[in-house]
Amino acid sequence: MSDDVAGFGELKIIAVGDELLEGRTADTNSGRIQRALGGHALRCGLIQVVPDTLDAIRQALDRTAPGDLVFMTGGLGSTPDDLTRDALAAWAGVPLDEDAAVRAQLEERWRRRGISVRAGVESQCQVPRGLSPLTNPVGSAPGLAGRLCGRMFVLLPGVPPELEGLLPLVLDRLHREGALPTGRATLTWRTAQIAELQLVRRCDEARAAYPSLGWSWWLSDWGVDVRVSAAPGDEHQLADVGARLDAELAHLVYTRDGRDLPTVVKDLAVARGRTIAVAESCTGGLVGGALTGVAGSSAYFRGGILSYANDVKVAQLGVPVSVLDGDGAVSEACVRAMAAGCRERLGADLAVAVSGISGPDGGTDDKPVGTTWIGVATPAGVFAGCYRFPADRTRNRLLAVAAAVDALRRVLEDGDDVSPWARRDTWCTR
Ligand code: AMP
Ligand code: MG
Repeated sequence: MSDDVAGFGELKIIAVGDELLEGRTADTNSGRIQRALGGHALRCGLIQVVPDTLDAIRQALDRTAPGDLVFMTGGLGSTPDDLTRDALAAWAGVPLDEDAAVRAQLEERWRRRGISVRAGVESQCQVPRGLSPLTNPVGSAPGLAGRLCGRMFVLLPGVPPELEGLLPLVLDRLHREGALPTGRATLTWRTAQIAELQLVRRCDEARAAYPSLGWSWWLSDWGVDVRVSAAPGDEHQLADVGARLDAELAHLVYTRDGRDLPTVVKDLAVARGRTIAVAESCTGGLVGGALTGVAGSSAYFRGGILSYANDVKVAQLGVPVSVLDGDGAVSEACVRAMAAGCRERLGADLAVAVSGISGPDGGTDDKPVGTTWIGVATPAGVFAGCYRFPADRTRNRLLAVAAAVDALRRVLEDGDDVSPWARRDTWCTR
């Protein structure tokens, strides 16, 4: 077989590991690899998840073809079940060579940690002839990349942070080798507070006007993303369709530059010099968790009050007992009082409050499972919106988090005196 392959047409991924087939670990690495290659016009033709046996890995390799870009993850460690190197070398009919530089790096790494060289080091220094190592910035097992049997191979460790750490080096190597087709031009809109099908419908006219563009939609943690891509030669259409979708989707869009929603909120809050606090009931701290998951959130985030029980809402947020007795904890009056009390007691410019019935119990005819009120307090007023989330407890809570964070985004964008629900463009019901 010839080794001189100019460009690579199809991506194939082989994820190796018994744990992936036994339901102990989900194969998330394939997605990581695809996202890293996201901008490139490479079709992923096949993902195979195989056990830690030479035979299974060989069969998976048999399903690759000359011209493929083949990623393998897992099985690069130093335990006896790590067979990826051996399997590839045997399949390709090449020897394994010890790499002196890798050995020196591993020995240095262990020396710094005060560990004597472990048994198994030999296997981690072995490189199938034709591949070369990529230094692992996070762990010990190096990545390996190179051309064999007309395919481009990239072998990466299974541990997700190690794989993530190596991916930029891999992209760099693939670029230098001319092994990646030029990227398909794309535009991505990230939206919140709209269901997938509604969003697809909002794109109908633009799709009909530009039939040669590629369209895809997918759920994110914060809402739905839509991507439009153009084949070489069609790029000029993207500018037109971009303006059209901007107008159509308007305030549903929180970014076109890929940031996630809490990062957008952080960036807006910092730019506007606003501080934020949260008062949470049904979400149990998840809103604060989402906001503080972004590095640098201390620049604007004050803190939160996790007021699950009614008497905590009264004592810590100043919710009137009469509101809880009359309207109940899941009500407009309650989230308004929670938001206003939180803003005042935590000394923040803006506060968001969440109170809902996540399920499976607690629903009534009046307030079925999924009913969730969100309140926002600003220096200019207090606003509230109600949602009827359609899912189970876990998902209802996450939908509430996304709606609460997006309410903050809207207030930061529109100003203190505009309700996040004023435009009536969200799936808020009241
Ligand atoms: P390995 O590189 O085969 O030693 O894998 C080390 C660990 O990485 C495994 O025990 C799993 O926890 C994790 N892992 C391996 N393959 C994957 C994968 N495809 N997706 C997510 N995690 C993985
Ligand atoms: Mg393994």
